[in-house]
Amino acid sequence: MTAPEPDHLARALRAIDALLAEDPGARGIARFRPHGALGPAARALGEARRVAIVTGFPRGDVGETDGPPGAFALGLALAARGAEVLHVTDARTAPLLVALGAAPLVTVDLPPRDPANRERARRLLDDLAPTHLVAVERPGRAADGTYRNMRGQDISTRTSALDELFLVAGEEGPWRCTTVCVGDGGNEVGMGVVAARVAEAVPHGDVIASVVPTDHLVVAGVSNWGAYGLVAALSLLAGRDLLPAPEAAREHVARIVAAGAVDGVTGLAEVTVDGLPIERSLDLLRALRRVLEATWRAEGS
Ligand code: ZN
Ligand code: ZN
Repeated sequence: MTAPEPDHLARALRAIDALLAEDPGARGIARFRPHGALGPAARALGEARRVAIVTGFPRGDVGETDGPPGAFALGLALAARGAEVLHVTDARTAPLLVALGAAPLVTVDLPPRDPANRERARRLLDDLAPTHLVAVERPGRAADGTYRNMRGQDISTRTSALDELFLVAGEEGPWRCTTVCVGDGGNEVGMGVVAARVAEAVPHGDVIASVVPTDHLVVAGVSNWGAYGLVAALSLLAGRDLLPAPEAAREHVARIVAAGAVDGVTGLAEVTVDGLPIERSLDLLRALRRVLEATWRAEGS
């Protein structure tokens, strides 16, 4: 199969975007999610030669179940398209990426609010040399320099300032690379481009809104879903299905729970994401696959 005709492609991207606009946690994402961001984000990633994917949101002793499964699925899809992919996280959430088999994995701890981070981040981007830098559900600093969870609590002592990489990636210089960020709450890297809307729309929004910007921002009801949506859009551009099978996606969440992940909403060590039964995520994957199949059927007829 080849990439669909432009009008079929536009219609399919709108259908995928409508699935990502679902807001099962009633977070009010409609009031801050950018429209039409999915296609340009996927097209940018479709050109990527070397991608660094950053994920891992602290919760409990390790991290939450939203983020790493989406980052892993996106990494597999980009690798299948021929890009070099590497994963980046901090020591606390690294066991989740290890459990998924996300490799190569770079573990970086930048202490929040340390002025030396700018130079460290430049050196790291110099070393890693990505053409594209991606974040999936990764804490982004708020206006006061702290990192916040959705409840407004300061989590700065439990995370690493990997958002510095995104600030550096936006600078002119040899570090400049294209950034794509996925989030669902307003407190993640990339939300800087909609921070004023997050401040209005979300409880504690003025405190938690991240000020770290990105070139492309994909907002979904669940961040894993945003990453799956990007994989679906990449599948359309590639003319082949790059989505994880539902059973594989379930297995990814089960594996990270076994490695210490907990649900970001309930805090429980269960195979759930953002307080939702895993079936909700699998249904989303099935719905994305139906969009691909309908698009390719329409092309063939
Ligand atoms: Zn989130
Ligand atoms: Zn989430």
